[in-house]
Amino acid sequence: MPQASTLPTVKVSPRGATRLKDGHVWVYRSDIVSSEDIPPGSLIAVSDHRGKVLGSALYSSSSQIAIRMISREPVSDLPALLRERIAAAIAYRDPLVHDTDTCRLIFSEADLLPGLIVDRYHDILSLQILTQAMDADPVRRTILAELTDRLHPASIFERVDPRVRELETLPPRASGLLQGEKSTTTFSMNGIQFLYDALEGQKTGAFLDQRENYASAARYAKGEVLDVFCYQGGFALHLASKSSRVTGVDSSRPALEVADQNAALNRRDNQPEIEWIEANAFDLLKDYASSNRRYDTIVLDPPAFAKSRRDLDAALRGYKELNLRALKMLRPGGILVTCSCSYHVTQTSFLEMLASAALDAHRTLRLIEVRGQAKDHPILLNVPETAYLKCVIVNVK
Ligand code: SAH
Repeated sequence: MPQASTLPTVKVSPRGATRLKDGHVWVYRSDIVSSEDIPPGSLIAVSDHRGKVLGSALYSSSSQIAIRMISREPVSDLPALLRERIAAAIAYRDPLVHDTDTCRLIFSEADLLPGLIVDRYHDILSLQILTQAMDADPVRRTILAELTDRLHPASIFERVDPRVRELETLPPRASGLLQGEKSTTTFSMNGIQFLYDALEGQKTGAFLDQRENYASAARYAKGEVLDVFCYQGGFALHLASKSSRVTGVDSSRPALEVADQNAALNRRDNQPEIEWIEANAFDLLKDYASSNRRYDTIVLDPPAFAKSRRDLDAALRGYKELNLRALKMLRPGGILVTCSCSYHVTQTSFLEMLASAALDAHRTLRLIEVRGQAKDHPILLNVPETAYLKCVIVNVK
């Protein structure tokens, strides 16, 4: 292993250094001031423009986020540090995650392992590699060995995002099993069973960040329930035991097929059968609102509307349209569970959007809970990008 002193050093501008001193972990390419050619994915030392060392980082030769800090100390043995961080990430969740065999075990920057995401679905691990440094063969070997030694999974699956590999100028790679043969399993959250198929074509897995919000929503749900953007039924299945009727809506037929199988797994005699409707949620809400359909509980969990800051205004208009329609369809005393997973939409602007929709709908909203992502998706207080999910539960008069 190279010694800390032999690591390539990258100098950052005063603006980059201030960002790091403020506790952030990223430096953008525009804030690099040294010109030395650094090999892609290197472990580097980071210094300010005067040469004072600020810590150790992983380098990307192509991403706009050129530097991702991994330690404020010199690092000489990267595999040892990775093993330690993986063990710490697993231990961190022990007291925080309950009533499930499934959670996000490693959440990139939030677990001081930038570029690595690992989700556990019962006995299968699903891994995502997002940077040059994490893609290096020795690093991959260390990660797989440590996860295997600690968790003994039946198999480990890698989910590849081709766009990320392109941005990192990494050679294309297919999603697939890295270890073991088992590709399907059943996992449980809050007593509800879900199917998991690692090899399925489209984005597989579940929205684990909503795990605690499912349980909260279930506490307040009642009567006739509409779960809009239901995917594989996360909210609908959790709310079924509190409801007289449940309808789930999504535009993805494959997602609804899994939702239906999940419903069969969880079917109880005293629970309503769930109806799954394949539709564009915007069109369906418009139709239902104009035909005077009424519900007691509505869940809105759309995909991220604001992928970048530029989309923010359009995104807020999209959220407002959806929420407005939902508010108009709720019976007095009804419950709205409304979510946004766009990082660029802050909690404040989301609540302002909802307040404005309430005025337009002539409804009075009382806040029951303002929630975020489940605790296995930690938030680093000095890295705002790690906080992205909003889930607001209101009573609608
Ligand atoms: N509530 C889900 C997660 C929703 S993810 C859960 O807890 O598991 C967002 C979902 O919105 C995806 O399933 C996607 O297929 C669906 N979707 C995207 N655009 C849509 C549209 N215009 N109409 C209906 N569904 C849409």
